[in-house]
Amino acid sequence: MPDRITPNDLAAELGVSTSIVRRWLREQVDRAGETGPWLIDEDLAGRVRAHFGATAAARAKRPVNCTVDECGRAAVARGLCRMHYNRWDRHGSTDRFDAADHQRAKTHCPHGHEYTPENTLVYPSDGRRRCRACRYHRTKPPPR
Ligand SMILES: [Zn+2]
Ligand SMILES: [Zn+2]
Repeated sequence: MPDRITPNDLAAELGVSTSIVRRWLREQVDRAGETGPWLIDEDLAGRVRAHFGATAAARAKRPVNCTVDECGRAAVARGLCRMHYNRWDRHGSTDRFDAADHQRAKTHCPHGHEYTPENTLVYPSDGRRRCRACRYHRTKPPPR
């Protein structure tokens, strides 16, 4: 009888957790009530490798460092480090908010929507403008 492979072996080989390998096996394989340890033959192991091999490649492609050139800090969200993510979140660009942006900010919101009369809310408390389009989008879950 050839050596059988355990979910542990496959998980280690594929760089995924044993529990997700087991879960996938439970979903894919009818064990007919058998509850002992998983004994995976080459055929099933091949299917596991095919499935998790694809997702492992996708995981490997995900940047772990900030994608902004010459930044190299650890990415926290959207492939950006904390600082660049905050910039992006604040004004829709990872560039520093410079004088040109300040000029532009008079006519457009930080996310590039034009401040037209219809799209502008003015808060009486501080006189600052708010973008209606952004307010509308914020009521929906953020795209992640
Ligand atoms: Zn960065
Ligand atoms: Zn806006």
